[in-house]
Amino acid sequence: MERADSEGSNSTSVTGPELEALALLEECEAIKHGHFLLSSGLHSDRYCQCATLFEQPDNAARVAQLMARRLPRDLHVHTVLTPAIGGILWGYELARALGCRSIFAERKPGEPFTLRRGFHLEKGERVLLAEDVITTGKSVMELVPLVEAAGAQLLGFAAIADRSKGAFQPGPPVHALAKLNFVVHGPEECPLCQKGLQLEKPGSR
Ligand code: ZN
Repeated sequence: MERADSEGSNSTSVTGPELEALALLEECEAIKHGHFLLSSGLHSDRYCQCATLFEQPDNAARVAQLMARRLPRDLHVHTVLTPAIGGILWGYELARALGCRSIFAERKPGEPFTLRRGFHLEKGERVLLAEDVITTGKSVMELVPLVEAAGAQLLGFAAIADRSKGAFQPGPPVHALAKLNFVVHGPEECPLCQKGLQLEKPGSR
């Protein structure tokens, strides 16, 4: 298997689960190759959109199993909590692989995340926050106050892919199957622009 997607990460060891996760992401075209305008305004030749992974439940289940194997054995997760909508399927599959509960938080535009639909957290509950792709970690960090307000215990973060290039260091451990260190360029110096390749704006926003 090649590891074309983790260039720049040669200082960190790539483990079996990470290689398998990367191969699955490539296979289902969750990692797209082209010329992309990122939300940061920078350009990149690759983009990760995990929605295509969840088109095939078997692939999603496999990635969740890889994450379950990678998490510390003594983590004893009671509940996986995710931000809607993007995190829901990942949290659900991960909870299935861990044999625990899965809930999600939602928000109206401009308002903080809340637990609705009868979801709640209890004092002392062991909570793992999960998001499919961490870019800045902003959404998943906005769930931390829900955990704290309930007096629950924050065990850390679980992501399929971490695109933060090490910038997401919240304190509690971040478990990511794949660290995607995509090379980015400012629009003025982008070699893909210079080649005249059409720029795509991907993503759900
Ligand atoms: Zn460009």
